[in-house]
Amino acid sequence: MSKVTRRNFLKLSTGALFLSGMAGFTGCVESRRPGNLTTLIDCNLCDGCVDLDAPLCVAACRQRAIERIPDPVEPIPQPFPRGEIEDWSNRKDVLDRLTPYTHLYIQRVDIIDGDGGERTIYVPRRCMHCDNPPCATICPFTANHKHSNGAVVINSDMCFGGAKCRDVCPWEIPQRQSGIGIYLDLVPTLAGNGVMFKCDLCYDRVRDDRLPLCVEACHRFAMVFGQKRDIEMEAIRRAAQVGGYLYGMRENGGTGTIYLSPVSFDKVNDAIDSGPGRPHMAQVERHLEKASVLESSVLLSPVIGMGAGLAAAALVAVKGRGGDGGGD
Ligand code: SF4
Ligand code: SF4
Ligand code: SF4
Repeated sequence: MSKVTRRNFLKLSTGALFLSGMAGFTGCVESRRPGNLTTLIDCNLCDGCVDLDAPLCVAACRQRAIERIPDPVEPIPQPFPRGEIEDWSNRKDVLDRLTPYTHLYIQRVDIIDGDGGERTIYVPRRCMHCDNPPCATICPFTANHKHSNGAVVINSDMCFGGAKCRDVCPWEIPQRQSGIGIYLDLVPTLAGNGVMFKCDLCYDRVRDDRLPLCVEACHRFAMVFGQKRDIEMEAIRRAAQVGGYLYGMRENGGTGTIYLSPVSFDKVNDAIDSGPGRPHMAQVERHLEKASVLESSVLLSPVIGMGAGLAAAALVAVKGRGGDGGGD
């Protein structure tokens, strides 16, 4: 168990400095201070754990995820009038993309330099924990919420798995497991399709002043975790020191995840293997400022009106059940 205290934050930072050959970091955090918790992911330090059986951060995250997801019912109800069953329960070992069981994975990016040489970087990918998360704003069942510590958390007890959050997420982060969740207790073929899952910033741990599992597991101190202002200052300082590039401070209006790369993110994005479950690294405008995104999301949802009424029923149904995504 590790507390996010001045001492271990400095320990993390000192390790990072040792590995990167940098000096001069003076930041510190107290996680009980109000404000957004933010992660700096330093791609100068991450080596993808290529010499190990699996990346340590991914293994730690996945173990927690698997333990928290129940087995789906059999057979899984076919959604009507449209909708696709997404069942990953027999593919829990998939590690090369995001799934309901893999909330963090490592993107290997092979980049051709200007001089024709090749450079490989490793990019741990998971939810960005946006400052203004469209996934939480759009959720018709209010199952998705940004907490005061910055964590964007889907309450699996209230989620119907309609995937609106994925539709409006600029990176299409949340992933659906069908055949589980509250929709099975109501009208399983008409409303919902399972539960959406993504990184919750280890909400239960950070609430207790512990580090996220992935941050704690990384043996190269490639992730630094703390208060937004401190982490942003450290990101800017490191980027200036190595001539690096930052991603996440402005994307979608600002996020709680900042990447530092030795090559530009235009080049990273050109080289990255993106697609379902494999997020891009393109520039992203603030998503909710585009009215068309919201409008089309609403129009595309055939159950959204019915959803509000069902949500009330669901709230009654879940009363008395505990939820990890409870209020602050
Ligand atoms: S990255 Fe996507 S899922 Fe995560 S908070 Fe932002 S909009 Fe939501
Ligand atoms: S913060 Fe927790 S849930 Fe999110 S990627 Fe890290 S270990 Fe996984
Ligand atoms: S972040 Fe750390 S644990 Fe994860 S792949 Fe990179 S070096 Fe390994």
